[in-house]
Amino acid sequence: MNRFTFVDCATVDEALSQMKGDAVVKAGGIDLLDLMKDGIVSPPKLVSILNVRSLHSIGLTDRGLELGPLTTLSEIAEHPEIQQRYAGLSDAAGHAATPQVRNMATLGGNLMQRPRCWYFRSTDFDCRKKGSSDECHALQGENQYHAIVNNKSCAMVHPSSTAVPLLAMDAEVELTSKAGKRTVAMRDFYVAPEVDLQRETAVKPGELITAIRVPSPAAGTRSAYQKYGEKESFDWPIADAGVVLEMDGRTCRKAAIVLGVAAPTPIHATDAEAALRGKVIDERTAREAGKLAVANATPLSQNGYKVQLFQTAVYRTILLAAGQMGRDPSAVG
Ligand SMILES: Cc1cc2nc3c(=O)[nH]c(=O)nc-3n(C[C@H](O)[C@H](O)[C@H](O)COP(=O)(O)OP(=O)(O)OC[C@H]3O[C@@H](n4cnc5c(N)ncnc54)[C@H](O)[C@@H]3O)c2cc1C
Repeated sequence: MNRFTFVDCATVDEALSQMKGDAVVKAGGIDLLDLMKDGIVSPPKLVSILNVRSLHSIGLTDRGLELGPLTTLSEIAEHPEIQQRYAGLSDAAGHAATPQVRNMATLGGNLMQRPRCWYFRSTDFDCRKKGSSDECHALQGENQYHAIVNNKSCAMVHPSSTAVPLLAMDAEVELTSKAGKRTVAMRDFYVAPEVDLQRETAVKPGELITAIRVPSPAAGTRSAYQKYGEKESFDWPIADAGVVLEMDGRTCRKAAIVLGVAAPTPIHATDAEAALRGKVIDERTAREAGKLAVANATPLSQNGYKVQLFQTAVYRTILLAAGQMGRDPSAVG
């Protein structure tokens, strides 16, 4: 690990004034310190925001939910009103990682964690994203956990579990810099590798996530999230789905279906969403939506199994959101 300066900040203004040059923000430090220990990033200065109290908050009003970026995954998972009104978000936060990680991991850091790809995350390998190769070696190499959609130029996946329901719930992220505040919708938050291979999010240098806002759910809204993986715990998902259904009785007025770790960024399964609109939710419509969700998949040599896994994840998460199925016992986390 390189030598670095550590600055412990107490206010947003203090943090912003310290975020100069190659300085990097540290929240819980789980992903950042992994990357530093593995030699993937070597920042000269860490700006710790962990003690900025104004960024650690949960606010619920008629307009919706406002979360400070330092809210931990445990706090989100265990909050009774979030469990009730934003079930998909509390499910996602509560099934990420392990209890120990969830106690330390912050929402802002969870959204900003770097992508999962062993070519990217190891100094032993060259990688397009790291600038050490002209090609993505996952495309022809070891790719069993990689993207099955939008994977033509880079097959990494973004592993944030909370991003999945937040995208489905039309959340927005408040960014603050010395120049002021701006708001980015979750649908514009993640940047595809074809747009910019180096930048994974809309966050610019010198900007801090200062709030995550989720609108109040419309009447009849139900949501759910489920994660599938190789291990019961202590692992990232290999398929996960977030579903928000606006229901009139058993009929779906509007559906949002988001796939995590299917593509380099979390994505809406738009054909599946359209197929549910105006339909009664039952086994048949849910299964059909599951198929449509990955109908455009272009699996690589070793990850064809993810197509089936996503079909099942979407089908079962729709039924869970609709209240027609309990949590899938084969889901993990
Ligand atoms: C074994 C294991 C299993 C895991 N499984 C899952 C899983 O299933 N699902 C999942 O989602 N995650 C999983 N994780 C990842 C873990 O949840 C993240 O590493 C954690 O949420 C990162 O949060 P942090 O506060 O520690 O962020 P940090 O490591 O402090 O920061 C991460 C990044 O975010 C930036 N950042 C942090 N806060 C801000 C802010 N307010 N504004 C701007 N930039 C900011 C930092 O600069 C850094 O680049 C797992 C981790 C481990 C170790």
